[in-house]
Amino acid sequence: MSGSGAHSGDLDERAAATVDTAMTLEDALAWVDRFISHVVASKAAFTELDRQAGDGDFGTNIEAAVSKARRRLTEQPPSTPGEVLQRVSAGFLATGGTSGPLLGAWFRELAKGVTTHASTEAFAVGVESGTAAVQRLGRASVGDRTMIDAMVPAANALRRAFTVGVGLDSALRYAASEARRGAESTTAMLGRKGRASYVGEAARGLPDPGAVLIADLFETAVPHGAAGLAE
Ligand code: ADP
Ligand code: MG
Repeated sequence: MSGSGAHSGDLDERAAATVDTAMTLEDALAWVDRFISHVVASKAAFTELDRQAGDGDFGTNIEAAVSKARRRLTEQPPSTPGEVLQRVSAGFLATGGTSGPLLGAWFRELAKGVTTHASTEAFAVGVESGTAAVQRLGRASVGDRTMIDAMVPAANALRRAFTVGVGLDSALRYAASEARRGAESTTAMLGRKGRASYVGEAARGLPDPGAVLIADLFETAVPHGAAGLAE
């Protein structure tokens, strides 16, 4: 990834100069490494969010998943960005909870979309098809207080970034801002899917942990943070 102009305000069309930037294997490994470290460091915070609106196992589930992913990355060294994401998928698919199979499917489709050339278009395609897979499996829509509330805005942001023609750094930064905004929107929602649907008002006031995880994932994709392209 190369640096493309990060300006405040909406998606910056001037960043179009970097149109064909793509994530290298080293970028993908560094990203996943930052993500795994973040999940391990934030386990207690994720557990607390799920304790308030679910059963309190989310932190444990995702830490188990990323630990499995890390082991797979060591045992079967990837040679493409898609293979990096495939190892992450395998870690989630080998883990329980509702989130394991759903995030496993999401990363699997992202891996397929990204394959060897991890461009803005590839990320748009991968995140769209991953999000569609999660919706097929879990039948959640935007507004149900799930990870979908961050995935759909991220997919829309990447598609828009591709259409406008910006480079990958800017596209991911924009996706991170939109995913964060989506995750924050769950704070006001009552759960309509999953365990949060059993606790009613108790969930309100805190964001959905699955949606926060997706926003965090996109933020860790951008080495210098997500500040920038969305207002
Ligand atoms: P469990 O509810 O089985 O304990 P986890 O704690 O592993 O599952 O995961 C909880 C997260 O799963 C929630 O924060 C939410 O984002 C997500 N989730 C729950 N149900 C669905 C669904 N039907 N579709 C999409 N995501 C869901
Ligand atoms: Mg749970």
